[in-house]
Amino acid sequence: MEKIRKKVLVLEDEDNIRSFVVINLRRNDYEPIEASTGEQALASLSANPDIEVALLDVMLPDIDGFEVCRRIRASGSRVGIIMLTARTTEMDKVTGLMNGADDYVTKPFSPTELVARVDALCRRLAPAEENMQRDIESGPFVLSLRNRTLDKNGERVKLTQTEFSLMKLFMENPGKALSREEILTNVWGADYKGELKIVDVNIRRLRIKIETNTDAPEFITTLWGYGYKWGV
Ligand code: CA
Repeated sequence: MEKIRKKVLVLEDEDNIRSFVVINLRRNDYEPIEASTGEQALASLSANPDIEVALLDVMLPDIDGFEVCRRIRASGSRVGIIMLTARTTEMDKVTGLMNGADDYVTKPFSPTELVARVDALCRRLAPAEENMQRDIESGPFVLSLRNRTLDKNGERVKLTQTEFSLMKLFMENPGKALSREEILTNVWGADYKGELKIVDVNIRRLRIKIETNTDAPEFITTLWGYGYKWGV
């Protein structure tokens, strides 16, 4: 039986970088779908709902990659998103992640690094079989592992896959002090090569969705200089 190849959208306007990414994805058993403009990428995503991961370049001739990311999330899609950014300032990374990206890779990147990030994100997107049926309840929250959804007081809270994994980690460990390193290893994987700061950015975004007042969070408490704790 032929192996099912996971589809990866590659949005990059520079032909040589796009070809290089595409060749390396193919070599690693992915099925790349190419786009060179933001509009093309959005059209490809709606035509191929089975795309698992989208790689989004930031500087594009039409809509910038951050805006493409924002529109993908606004459409309700939970595809895994990795930003390919040439800009290295903290602000741009934060902007991308606040728009709903799961990860970012700074240019220039090696093919090994990029494929490792895609592999890691795909692993996070695939829920472990044994946990499929359970619901986890904590305070006003119900997390369905089968449907990968979160409800607060019976109302659906839209989460990205990364936010879902964070909620799962927190709700499975009520009252436990979790270090930022522990969170990074659990949610992003032990082989994740990015920065620890990605944890804080994602938690900031998650708080906006689940807390009533993000200045005085009730559910995700900050443990200064250490990490975070789930308490209801
Ligand atoms: Ca570009």
